[in-house]
Amino acid sequence: MLISSQWQFLLFLGSVLLGWLIHPAHGTTTDQVFDVQLARDNNGGDCDAHLSVVNLMSSEVEAMVKAATDAINTLLTAPEGSALKGRKERLRIAMMAEKLWKIKYTKLKLTVEDKNSIKTLDAIKKNYGKIQEYIDDPNASDGGKFRFACDDSWAQRVEKLPTDLHFQYVQYKKGTPVKEVDILKGDKEFDYAWYNTGGKTIEQQYMTFQNGWHPDGPCQGGTREVNGKEYEPIQAQTQQERIMIYFCPIVWKMKESLASSAKNVKKKDLLDDYRTPSSVLLHEMTHQLFRSQDTTYGWKGCVNKITTADDAVGNADTYTFFGMAMYMDKWWWDSGRAQSPPFIA
Ligand SMILES: [Zn+2]
Repeated sequence: MLISSQWQFLLFLGSVLLGWLIHPAHGTTTDQVFDVQLARDNNGGDCDAHLSVVNLMSSEVEAMVKAATDAINTLLTAPEGSALKGRKERLRIAMMAEKLWKIKYTKLKLTVEDKNSIKTLDAIKKNYGKIQEYIDDPNASDGGKFRFACDDSWAQRVEKLPTDLHFQYVQYKKGTPVKEVDILKGDKEFDYAWYNTGGKTIEQQYMTFQNGWHPDGPCQGGTREVNGKEYEPIQAQTQQERIMIYFCPIVWKMKESLASSAKNVKKKDLLDDYRTPSSVLLHEMTHQLFRSQDTTYGWKGCVNKITTADDAVGNADTYTFFGMAMYMDKWWWDSGRAQSPPFIA
């Protein structure tokens, strides 16, 4: 009796150790993945007060990327043995993929066999893969490691810029001193140029109200439309040319961690309400790494406003909601709210 239970224990221990070898633990900290701006860097956008939350984010992004990728692989693989095996899990994923990615699935095996839908899922998987690749080796990416800032204080308005001279403006090289830019002396209709607090130089990024910018700074009063009609303050922006992602203060009022908030989900909670700094980072990284668009924001927008798979594949928030829903897999989120799994075989 004793011997057999020791054997069982050893077997158990062995399988745990093997599991670790096969699935090396992810768990980067954000400062390994981004050049997180601190007060000592003297660039503005200091993250000193938010470091504990900031450093959680990249491993949570990895967890969402992994959950999403595993889910897509499940849909793309036929069930082994009985078609009923793992049916509940497949249904959970398929219903969500139909809502968010506009794919078709077979009602019997709950697999994806439609050619266009397979193409869609492959594209999504590849895009999630780009996020993991960047996390694995940020310095190898185009432009290297992104800067990450915790507010927009690094940006200040320098000059009003005549909109009709946009094309001349963007021809200036990054870092050109403002005093050398004649067109900044215009006095017509205005947009805004911005510079680092470190010195008065222009950047190639051209910013307009249409892009969500605001004269007192992007975080100061700018709003975005969510779910088709509601408005909420801008949460974050990604600037490719400046290789910068920054969060607005509103983000720091969200639930801090997806892992801990996922444990307290209650029936009928809105998926929108589970956005965390890490889900905002996942959204921004889709802009950074494969130039996704903000066609729409919010659960309702992703489900109703987007009607084609191509638009879904190109929309940043769709990656966020799919990742969050696949990560919080004890609940069914295809209605946009937490529902208990149905009673099916
Ligand atoms: Zn966006």
